[in-house]
Amino acid sequence: MVEPDRVERYRTRMQRKKAIIDEAIARADREKGLLLILTGSGKGKSSSAFGMLARALGHGMRVGVAQFIKGRSDTGEEAFFSKQNNVIWHVLGEGFTWDTQSLERDTETAQRGWIIVQKMLCDPSINLIVLDELTYPLKFGWLDITSVLNDLKNRPSMQHVVITGRGAPDALCEIADTVTEMADIKHAFRAGIQAQKGIDL
Ligand code: ATP
Ligand code: MG
Repeated sequence: MVEPDRVERYRTRMQRKKAIIDEAIARADREKGLLLILTGSGKGKSSSAFGMLARALGHGMRVGVAQFIKGRSDTGEEAFFSKQNNVIWHVLGEGFTWDTQSLERDTETAQRGWIIVQKMLCDPSINLIVLDELTYPLKFGWLDITSVLNDLKNRPSMQHVVITGRGAPDALCEIADTVTEMADIKHAFRAGIQAQKGIDL
């Protein structure tokens, strides 16, 4: 049996916690379209973004996805989401930059891609946009950060945008509402395990 004073202490602690949480929830009474950044070198950035995509679709929202670095064409997320109603799916990148090895070509591809993104960022009927691996075109200078920031700032007020990729520039994090950095504590790849279906692709 648990001692009565431990039971009482637990109850008091939980009551205090509940009061603090309730107060914080009551304080957060505004609504707005959010800009979220998922960065860092640990696994989980793109898959978290696609989790939010699923949530939004569950609520009947319209979503758009733009993939800036085309790593592979056999991912489960593309096979699944691109077939759903209410999903616009754009593959804008050609491949890893270490495959193309041409600054000019990568720059042209990214800029052509951004024109497509600009159209989505002007369309209030798209409720959530995932810009997957957008940090790389910014990092390598294929896109002008100032104009990207302007387009993001001027989007419809209730539109959510999720940006993924390692090394998110500070200027991008500054205008974001939520920034999460995934830490790489351990990854199976380094133990010689290849990318697994359903987990990595
Ligand atoms: P995921 O798509 O699994 O959420 P991610 O978007 O965080 O991963 P990316 O940098 O886009 O990570 O990497 C794409 C691929 O590399 C995925 O298959 C992912 O599982 C794998 N990966 C992610 N982080 C690491 C890491 N630290 N070491 C090795 N492979 C990784
Ligand atoms: Mg990713």
